[in-house]
Amino acid sequence: MKIAVYPGSFDPISNGHLDIIERASRLFDKVYVVVSINILKQPLFTPTERLEMLKEVTKHLDNVVVEETSELLIRYAEKRKANVIIRGLRNFIDYQSEMTLFQFNRKINSNIETILLFPSQDNLFLSSTSIKELVVFGGDISEYVPKQLVERIKKRIEEKNFRNL
Ligand code: ADP
Repeated sequence: MKIAVYPGSFDPISNGHLDIIERASRLFDKVYVVVSINILKQPLFTPTERLEMLKEVTKHLDNVVVEETSELLIRYAEKRKANVIIRGLRNFIDYQSEMTLFQFNRKINSNIETILLFPSQDNLFLSSTSIKELVVFGGDISEYVPKQLVERIKKRIEEKNFRNL
């Protein structure tokens, strides 16, 4: 059984993330999408809220399971008997950080491969940061995040009142 883990902060989830999840779900028997903690980022949504939103937008994918973890990713992957870690790749900047991450993970467990997937052309430029910025400056995010989450994401970003920092 080919099992993959797709980790990220998903804060908030974008169509780019969903694109990668759908591709992974076609390639693997089972995909664990895992909300992990990024110590460098100030979170918009709590891990539990992100888990809830990911569950909602992946409910059409039978072989996708959403979880959260505060463990080291490789330890989590070992527990789930995953052979592969999936990451999304948009550009050279991603490539650089993914190379570092992959080497680090391979050093811990050389049996777990990292596979990088490209999103569709439409999602190549999308990032959670650009979505946040778009809301703060009055732009429309409806093309960039799953439809059912548009209002929830807008509301949270507006509540945070980033313009008055
Ligand atoms: P992290 O904070 O660990 O980078 P993110 O939530 O930002 O986590 O992203 C999780 C994964 O999704 C990463 O591999 C990232 O490169 C990928 N990703 C983010 N946005 C996109 C996108 N628009 N298209 C494809 N992959 C993406």
